[in-house]
Amino acid sequence: MTDLWFRPSELIFYKVHVRGPTDWRFLEIRDGQGGFGFAEAAGAVGGRNVPDMVARLADRLRGEVLSSDRAVVDALRVGDASARSAGVLGAAMSSLRAAVADALARRAELPLADYLRAGSGRAGEPSRRVRLYANINRSMLPDDGGHVDRSAESFAAVAARAVAEGFRSVKCAPFDECRAPFDAGGLPPEARKGLERVSAVREAIGAEVELYVDCHSRFDVESAIALEEELRAIGVDWFEEPVDPIGQGDDVLRIRDCAELPLAGAESGYGIETFRSLMESESLDIVMPDVMHCGGPVEAFLTGCELESMKPGCVSLHCPSGPVSLCTSAHATAGFGNVLPLEHAVYEVEWRHEALEPHERIVDGYIELNREPGIGCAPDLGVVLDRGERWTP
Ligand SMILES: [Mg+2]
Repeated sequence: MTDLWFRPSELIFYKVHVRGPTDWRFLEIRDGQGGFGFAEAAGAVGGRNVPDMVARLADRLRGEVLSSDRAVVDALRVGDASARSAGVLGAAMSSLRAAVADALARRAELPLADYLRAGSGRAGEPSRRVRLYANINRSMLPDDGGHVDRSAESFAAVAARAVAEGFRSVKCAPFDECRAPFDAGGLPPEARKGLERVSAVREAIGAEVELYVDCHSRFDVESAIALEEELRAIGVDWFEEPVDPIGQGDDVLRIRDCAELPLAGAESGYGIETFRSLMESESLDIVMPDVMHCGGPVEAFLTGCELESMKPGCVSLHCPSGPVSLCTSAHATAGFGNVLPLEHAVYEVEWRHEALEPHERIVDGYIELNREPGIGCAPDLGVVLDRGERWTP
């Protein structure tokens, strides 16, 4: 496939207002001859604007002949180490690499999942249905009217809706009141409210549905170990980021030594080496590369292929994001043939599926991919311009 190439000449951004403080940012790269590719970008990392960084890098790519994902890295001379040390650079690289991968797959006239497999010599057709888990967190953040009910009953009601609509795994992030360090040792009293929310969700979804809990790095070693016991008693199936597994590697190892629940995380990691070393050191049971931060869909796909062959069921892409990111993630996930479901932020806005043309299709807890080239869809300009803006940097 090296005879296929893409030469970027133009960059376009789209911003869609979602709710409260949340916007989706999509980018499109064009070659001036009808070729194009789409990706989604983070807004800011570490207080630094990601689209600005994308624009600077894209400027340096203008006119370069790109025949692969690797060619983007080589042309920009941004190695994994520098992308890792500056999160904004890693995020910008990820989005650009994603857009180029989409453009190259479209040029090859292959769905992105098939393009990824062909590029690594993998035989066989990928699945067109990718199992999702329902992350209810985004639907429970402030909307344009401000406050949203975050009572245990409210968590339970949203989780029950997801199960009624066919999801077999639900994730929540219930520990609003917690932030280490805590005054007392053991289980912090602040965690009680969060545990009530988890119990209410478990009761609402029944024993058969998997329950994942994201702790957003709000704990420390001692509180995390105490919390894990409580979560285990409630019947939680996945313990995500009690501490940041990338920034607090020693802490996560100490928690790992005491915990029985599968420990998940590393959503901000960049490059396959980051995820490989977390698995090899047995810091985590499940790594969560995010196509908007890990280096894009090719990096996520290669990470999935390598690590899943070492330990099946250890890779689940992180995706609490918009529909372009979910579609890209679903292609990467279908490419490596996942065991675990992929993340999906449910019920953030009821018009979400309309933001893409053709519409995003989520049925019975699965995302359904079409057989069109690339990611097989594009932002719907009517919806985007109605709810946001388009600009060229
Ligand atoms: Mg998370």
